[in-house]
This record gives sequence, C-alpha cells and structure tokens, in this order.
Amino acid sequence: MRPASVSLDLDNLWAYLKTHGNPDWESRPSFLATAVPRLLDVFGEHRLTTTVFVVGADAERDDGAQAVRDIVAAGHEVANHSWGHEPWLHRYSRPELEAELVRAEDAITAAGAPRPVGFRGPGYSVTPALLEILAARGYRYDASTLPTWIGPLARAYHNRTARDRAEGASDLFGGFGKVLAPNTPFRWHGTGLVELPVTTMPLLRVPIHGAYLLQLHQISPRLARGYFRAALRLCLLTGTAPSLLLHPTDVLSGAEAPGMEFFPGMAVPGAEKAALLGWVLSSLRENFDVAGAGAHVDRLSELLRERRTELCG
Ligand SMILES: [Zn+2]
Repeated sequence: MRPASVSLDLDNLWAYLKTHGNPDWESRPSFLATAVPRLLDVFGEHRLTTTVFVVGADAERDDGAQAVRDIVAAGHEVANHSWGHEPWLHRYSRPELEAELVRAEDAITAAGAPRPVGFRGPGYSVTPALLEILAARGYRYDASTLPTWIGPLARAYHNRTARDRAEGASDLFGGFGKVLAPNTPFRWHGTGLVELPVTTMPLLRVPIHGAYLLQLHQISPRLARGYFRAALRLCLLTGTAPSLLLHPTDVLSGAEAPGMEFFPGMAVPGAEKAALLGWVLSSLRENFDVAGAGAHVDRLSELLRERRTELCG
C-alpha cells in the first residue's frame, strides 16, 4: 500500500484565543488534560503511530510536559510547533526565529522527548531563513505548507470576527499564490530539507482536515463522509500520498473549549467528533499505509525530487 501520514498540531486553547485576538489568552487557558488522553485513545484504537507537533510554551508547563511524556510513551513522534505559536513568525528576524526554535526544542527535550527533527510553523508559511535554520539545526523535514486557495477566505473570516484586529492579521494564512504550491512531498532546493505539505483535496485544492469536515458534518454526517471519501479517491487517482492534519478541536466540544464559540464545528459534541475522527482514520488506513510524519518522510526520501518553488509568507 502507498504511504500516508497523520500528524496532530497540539494547539492549546490559549493559542486559538491569541490568534483570534482575545486578550484572555494571556492567562494561558489550557485544554490539554482533556484533549490529549482522548486523542491518544483514538490513535490507540486504530493502532496508529502519529507525529504530534508540540508548542514549546506548553511543554514548559506541567500539563504540557505530562502530555509530552504520554505521547512519547504511546510511541508517537514529537516534533516542534514553535515556542510561542506566534502567527506572524515569518516576520521574525533570523536571530529571533532561531531563538524561538531553540527554546521549543529545549522545552520538548526537557519534557522527555527526543530532540525533534520535524517542524511545522503556526501560520502555514515558510521563509528561506526558516529553512536554513532548520537544516543547520539538523532537522530532516518541514511540514508548514498548506497548498490551498482558501487562505484568503479564512483570512476574511478572521478579520470579520476578531475582537481586535491584531497588527499583521492581513498576513495570516498565506496568499493566493499557494494554490500553485505542491500538494505532494518534495525536497527544497539548497537546504535539501524535505517538505511535507498538509494535503488538500487533489485538483480542487480545498482543505480536508478537521474544521472543514466538521462544518460539513454539521450540515449532514453523510456529506462529511462523502467529501472525505472523495478526497481519498482523488489521492489514489493522482498518486498523492496524503498527510492528514489533526487538531485537539477534532475531539473537543464547545464546553471544553470556552471562548472558542467562533470556531467552526464547536457545536458538535466531543463523543460525536471522536467517532467521526475514528471513521476518518480507519478510512485512511483501509487505503494507505499510515505512519507519522517522520516515518512518512523516511519512506519517501529516495523518491523525492527537488523543487525550487518559493513560498515566502
Ligand atoms: Zn498550530
């Protein structure tokens, strides 16, 4: 069977509130103690090994460090999702960017995980400086890109609903140019780093992960399943090795994420979400040989071609 991967961005409640411009984020509210055991249960049920992209600021706190230990004990890869989950990370100077990465690495290893070899930025964007720092620090892959045209729509949504328009919001979620970005893994020219894009629907380039599926599920569970089935079929037809992205909100109800009423899919009860996620993962497994992101990159490494595509945020 063809390879595929599943990865989880362990975005915490405070990180969502921060991106949304809600000042309550500063008290760092957390839902990790609820989300992580539930997600690990679903992965265990489906005998899946995944990659979890952990935010350094969370790995420094008790519940985040516990989450890292539990994730490692369950056999999953822990990768770097930046320290502060700053949506405008691509605007950082080179020294600031490196400090951000190093602090997250230190927090993750102090919590008990091996030194990460994979990175995903919080804003779906990469810069040449980021790729160079990652390569120099021994990373093997980046997984930050999301090749879709829907970014500008997500940005319009954000600007409409954010309580205060944080400076730089217009940079969020990338631009129209990303529709031309590759939807399959490739090796960056120069650094040799492997890029593992978050897979979007082949040909149509619309996202197929969590919040999008849940929005359809709220209209009709059959519609959501049909949409995901179509995505898998198109992946098979186009030879796309899917890299599926998950979030804690894929298993949490609105009551378990106070302040996130604005977020799509939060009206769906947690148990119903976990059931949908279980169905998604088993459908993926029926068609592909599913592993974590690092293992996916290992399996693909020899087949990858270089691309010169520039994807500056
Ligand atoms: Zn994130």
